[in-house]
Amino acid sequence: MQNTQAIERDVVIIGAGPSGLTAAHELRKAGLSVAVLEARDRVGGRTWSNTIDGAWLEIGGQWVSPDQEALIGLLGELGLDTYSRYREGESVYIAPDGTRTRYTGEMFPVSEVTEKEMNKLIATLDELAAAMDPARPWEHPQARELDTISFHHWLRSQSGDEEACNNIGLFIAGGMLTKPAHAFSALQAVLMAASAGSFSNLVDEDFILDKRVVGGMQGVSLALAAKLGEDVILNSPARTVRWSGNDGDWRVTVEGDNATVTAKRVVMAVPPNLYSRVSFDPPLPRRQHQMHQHQSLGLVIKVHAVYETPFWRGAGLSGTGFSASSLVQEVYDNTNHEDPRGTLVGFVSDEKADYAFSLSAEDRKKEITASLAHFLGDEALEPVVYYESDWGSEEWTRGAYASSYDLGGLHRYGMDQLTPVGPIHWSSSDLAAEGYQHVDGAVRMGQYTAATLVASLKG
Ligand SMILES: Cc1cc2nc3c(=O)[nH]c(=O)nc-3n(C[C@H](O)[C@H](O)[C@H](O)COP(=O)(O)OP(=O)(O)OC[C@H]3O[C@@H](n4cnc5c(N)ncnc54)[C@H](O)[C@@H]3O)c2cc1C
Repeated sequence: MQNTQAIERDVVIIGAGPSGLTAAHELRKAGLSVAVLEARDRVGGRTWSNTIDGAWLEIGGQWVSPDQEALIGLLGELGLDTYSRYREGESVYIAPDGTRTRYTGEMFPVSEVTEKEMNKLIATLDELAAAMDPARPWEHPQARELDTISFHHWLRSQSGDEEACNNIGLFIAGGMLTKPAHAFSALQAVLMAASAGSFSNLVDEDFILDKRVVGGMQGVSLALAAKLGEDVILNSPARTVRWSGNDGDWRVTVEGDNATVTAKRVVMAVPPNLYSRVSFDPPLPRRQHQMHQHQSLGLVIKVHAVYETPFWRGAGLSGTGFSASSLVQEVYDNTNHEDPRGTLVGFVSDEKADYAFSLSAEDRKKEITASLAHFLGDEALEPVVYYESDWGSEEWTRGAYASSYDLGGLHRYGMDQLTPVGPIHWSSSDLAAEGYQHVDGAVRMGQYTAATLVASLKG
């Protein structure tokens, strides 16, 4: 390890993902000096585009929904355009018994009884979400009751229809938190819904997966980093945060591999599961030590399969498919802007990802493409490019998409997750209210953290 630079700034930011870079950008605009230390050799964190075997792919976060106003505003400021996800034609639903049905509209083609149960669960979750301020889920009138039961068991307390429970569970468990529904609370599920405006918004893929960014979502971070220039220092994981002072008159020194930065404040713009990779001197208080052990990332394999043409469109299919019981539980047309080739994206989540990773790479590809073929036809068996995003193996992330509390953690610790410790502030999509777990939440947290720091340093 070598320290090549000693730098003095108003604020040092750890992590050049969308949250840290937004904070840096806003602080700069307010006239404060910044330095951003980034562990990887690139910016963007969980947003990343790369060319694999000649196919350009968005390996991490990519979709934008219409309620994500902070992100949409930043895209406008940076001059980045968006385009719509392809969605013409019929979707496919695979039932628990393996039956494949084509359908249109939002409701899966299930029996009348199951449809009624699904609608009842959606209405109940919408009501619970409407009663929640996503910035204060622990103040929900049923916070403790909902936080001490798993989402799996809560669903079954509301409905005896297993297919309905699994279908509704899919939208939050496999689909968002990427943990089994028995591993997080009903309160955490309601927060996921409230952070996106309602549960109905999560069920509507045309809303939640509406648009993509031309050139890729990583473009947000690349554009911000270009503005920050040499103040972004790559290949420089922060190892130690030392701090002293009191009453707002703080001094903090962050030691990274390529720079040591002395500043008045530090922003930890990394997911909470990585806080303990940094040594704090003096150590963090008991409350933070405990809280951070209850926040963890989920696990999902984002599968990219590229074909010479989007063959499913010719068959009248949109490329969208859902199945709570299949290995690939969601599939979408992910063809790039103005690309003649067709790309599918599929998701293998939580315990199914554990199973998939227990297979050899060859068998995994075989089973995953067979699952894609069950949705969209045998042509899906032979992609010209095949790639699995494996964020669980990334040292500086360790899972996907984002972090959530274990059972009971949200109402027990959530109110302190943003409380600064001396000069140390916390900022990431994992801590957001609106846009929680999404790039929009990362941007909102960056803006919030910057505003807090501007008020205390310039106020
Ligand atoms: C497969 C996948 C699909 C997703 N899909 C979507 C989607 O479609 N739409 C959407 O809105 N969101 C999506 N997301 C989520 C979205 O990408 C994240 O919410 C967002 O990137 C979080 O931004 P952040 O800045 O809070 O954290 P990150 O993006 O994780 O950035 C944190 C940065 O900190 C760095 N770091 C960590 N530790 C240190 C250290 N000690 N020192 C220095 N640097 C450090 C990391 O290298 C990283 O660059 C997806 C995520 C994944 C993984």
